[in-house]
Amino acid sequence: MNDPYNPPVAPTLYIATDALAYMVELIRSSRGEVNGFGLISPTTGGHILASPDDVIITDQEVKPGAADAAMGDVVKAFDDAALLDRDQEFHLQWHSHPGEAYFSSTDMANVSNFGCCGAIWVASMVFARDGSLVARYDQYSPVRLGGPMPWQIFSSRADLRRRAVAQVAQHVRLAPPDRKAGTRRRSGALARQS
Ligand SMILES: [Zn+2]
Repeated sequence: MNDPYNPPVAPTLYIATDALAYMVELIRSSRGEVNGFGLISPTTGGHILASPDDVIITDQEVKPGAADAAMGDVVKAFDDAALLDRDQEFHLQWHSHPGEAYFSSTDMANVSNFGCCGAIWVASMVFARDGSLVARYDQYSPVRLGGPMPWQIFSSRADLRRRAVAQVAQHVRLAPPDRKAGTRRRSGALARQS
């Protein structure tokens, strides 16, 4: 049984800056909302959305405040991933909101529906048009768990990483440790879902 005082921590979603920028561009290009999916591959401590090529959108009817992807098109997108031998990575769903990024009651119902389709787990993201986002992780089997999913962006550009390492080495000095220990906040803790 899951210990409510020591809940398991959700895996982290690592998002390539290019993939994130592409999702935000898709959202801003639509006059209504956009609903999409993504192929995420496992890595130490979580899953990676590695490239804009791993972001998928299907035919959908949209309006301000809602986007509905037809189930047949979602199945086709899954089959396309299977042809590339990547159906095991079809674990990310995302959509936009006109205002705030949060999981509405409709979103939570959709998240629960994934469990009825035989999915073992799914990562979900909701974006606002300004690019802010929230993410959650839901597991359906062997027990139903769900909660906020920690996420981090990373640059796929090795030249930027090298430049950052060099600049930090040149300009940034580590201060001596502060004796006052701050309280540590645990993020991404999973709660049992009813
Ligand atoms: Zn929503």
